Amino acid sequence: MSGGPRTAHDDVIRGLLRPDLRHLHAYGAPQLDVPVQLNTNENPYAPSEALRQAIADAVAGIAGTLNRYPDRDAVELRKDLADYLGHGLTARQVWAANGSNEIIQQLLQAFGGPGRTALCFEPSYSMHPLISQVTATAWVEGSRDADYGMSTAAGQVRRHRPDVVFITSPNNPTSTSVPLGLVEDVYDAAPGLVVVDEAYAEFARAGTPSALTLLPGRPRLVVSRTMSKAFAAAGTRLGYLAADPAVIEALLLVRLPYHLSTVTQAVARAAIAHRDEPLATVGALRRSRDDLVGWLRARGLAVADSDANFVLFGVFDDRDAVWQGLLDRGVLIRNTGPAGWLRVTVGTPAENDAFKQALTEECDL
Ligand SMILES: *Cc1c(COP(=O)(O)O)cnc(C)c1O
Repeated sequence: MSGGPRTAHDDVIRGLLRPDLRHLHAYGAPQLDVPVQLNTNENPYAPSEALRQAIADAVAGIAGTLNRYPDRDAVELRKDLADYLGHGLTARQVWAANGSNEIIQQLLQAFGGPGRTALCFEPSYSMHPLISQVTATAWVEGSRDADYGMSTAAGQVRRHRPDVVFITSPNNPTSTSVPLGLVEDVYDAAPGLVVVDEAYAEFARAGTPSALTLLPGRPRLVVSRTMSKAFAAAGTRLGYLAADPAVIEALLLVRLPYHLSTVTQAVARAAIAHRDEPLATVGALRRSRDDLVGWLRARGLAVADSDANFVLFGVFDDRDAVWQGLLDRGVLIRNTGPAGWLRVTVGTPAENDAFKQALTEECDL
């Protein structure tokens, strides 16, 4: 949290800060204590009693080893993650870190940096440009089609020749997926690393294949995932990637020693062992998502096709006023995305009803 009055010290420190960071704003989705929180795409279902007990047992099991550093290479956890992903992947092709944001940071530290460029197709995930700039990687803002498709992506890559390309699919904040053929085209056009951020892969509609299927024979392709969304484990901070083992060897150069605590590794492994429970909520959330898309469209609103656990809708003349009106009614959503659009995370049925009720009142639907 920042806050409090500006002091003379602020100016002293600002003068010392790297000049290339002075214009940035810290990531800041508001963390407000309101009854209905539909703003950061978390899974709304808290761990069950059984899962809580399994997590507690796992932590108790390693508590006596906390005088020692963790397994630096998180081998057992990477085996579990590879098993979960399938596609014949092994632990050598999987890497884990504190959230997929740290995965992105490690990728940019190793493959971006001063004199290099990263490109993403906007509108997309705000952390890709932010982490690029923090790692002194020049940021190139690519664009999407009017319907958020990526028909011109490969051409943009050919023109800019970036060292790292980000493709977010399903995309945040638009909730749309890109066909794998376009990912292949971008890969063929790119001179460097192509990172497909699949944070929402589990929520995709049936028949939306993962870029994991493209990994064989493509050493420059990276697919990143997270336990923050479908796995209902945002508080655990566990992100991971699948790629050629040579990519992971390169990441060992930049990761901090012992970056993933023994506690994190134990909790993540317990959650993976009990994954049937959180993943069972995914089906329900997908159905609620489709219902919400239909409900909003039936009221004349524009809604992007969603393969994620959130919905982008609009178009409002004053989206900030709508956002504030919902907040005044105890419903926190996100005023992000293209001008005039708002993003709402799919919650429990009661939370979705509260959102519909608040929006109906606010907008006279
Ligand atoms: C939420 C999200 C992530 C997850 O970040 P974590 O650090 O794993 O919590 C990654 N990418 C996108 C596009 C997201 O929306």
